Amino acid sequence: MTASRQPGELSPYAASQGASRGRQYPESEHPYRGVFQRDRDRIIHSTAFRRLVYKTQVFVNHEGDHYRTRLTHSLEVAQIGRTVATALGLNEHLVEAICLAHDLGHTPFGHAGQDALNQCMKTYGGFEHNLQSLRVVDELEERYAAFPGLNLTFESREGILKHCSKRHARTLGELGERFLYRRQPGLEAQLANIADEIAYNNHDVDDGLRAGLLTEDELTETELFAENYAHTRSLCDKIGRRAMIHETVRAMINEIVTDLIDHSGCMLTREAPADIEAVRKHPLQLIGLSPEAETRHRALKRFLHGSLYQHQRVRAMSGRAHEIVRGLFECFMNDIRALPKSHLQRAEKWAGQTGDKGRARAVADYVAGMTDRYAYSAYSRLVG
Ligand code: MG
Repeated sequence: MTASRQPGELSPYAASQGASRGRQYPESEHPYRGVFQRDRDRIIHSTAFRRLVYKTQVFVNHEGDHYRTRLTHSLEVAQIGRTVATALGLNEHLVEAICLAHDLGHTPFGHAGQDALNQCMKTYGGFEHNLQSLRVVDELEERYAAFPGLNLTFESREGILKHCSKRHARTLGELGERFLYRRQPGLEAQLANIADEIAYNNHDVDDGLRAGLLTEDELTETELFAENYAHTRSLCDKIGRRAMIHETVRAMINEIVTDLIDHSGCMLTREAPADIEAVRKHPLQLIGLSPEAETRHRALKRFLHGSLYQHQRVRAMSGRAHEIVRGLFECFMNDIRALPKSHLQRAEKWAGQTGDKGRARAVADYVAGMTDRYAYSAYSRLVG
């Protein structure tokens, strides 16, 4: 499937600069960098991207220096995404941009923070972290004179918006259409989504073992871990525990990523979409795992849901996160003058347009942007 392609050459179904649907605010081209490279660069230079270093993936930051944060998670997603993109002749720059941006809208304290903020926003239109990632790149970053946000290409924004309710999709114009008409996103977006899952399933095994919330014994319940662990031991039984875990996780990632490349390559050869528009109209997602690998990977995900994410220590942190996010939200809703200037200006402007709903959205934007440690200190300063 790759034999006829030169290294670095794009497949016909990849996103290409020439066929891009462009930016919301037209800009002239850069002499040395392509449009998707520029998207990636804008994301790396954004404030929201730097904040990811102090945002929880599963373990809060102060629990240890070796756990994944949203930043290192995003880098691992990008690494996997780029590997697969190169093998399939997809647009590596675009995949990287989507992967690096995919979690920009996450609240402090991981999923617990997002659930809490969604509850707070229940009567004001709700809060979805995925939609928030899009708000960050479309509106909230303040970096350019000529436009709000980062003015990314349609293709990057399409990839960032992984899922979205129909209600919200109707407000998003061209970008929301695929959720209303059940179309697919481009292959780079499909890939970034799966790379995200592969990265977190596997690194959560590593982090869970490191934290002592999981044991190798428990993990052998899942075929994917059990087989790779046994195989690693048979090759090198004299190495220490950490190296054994790393070798096993590495083998697991390799198994799944290799399957993803092989299976997607077969589907692309079979379906042969002519271009990215044919990909979008295709009834199936063309980037995916084989049914066997899908089953093994999903079993690992189920195991982590039952054992790690529901672990008493993780849940205790979630309880605290709810308290902090709710406390901060209520505090700013009661007195928007406690918001920093630019957020206060937005809150006043939007309150003038839609009342409490607008005010709540400005507060949610501010709280969602906080890092874990900033949220902690703001909470103890303002709420006590
Ligand atoms: Mg992620």
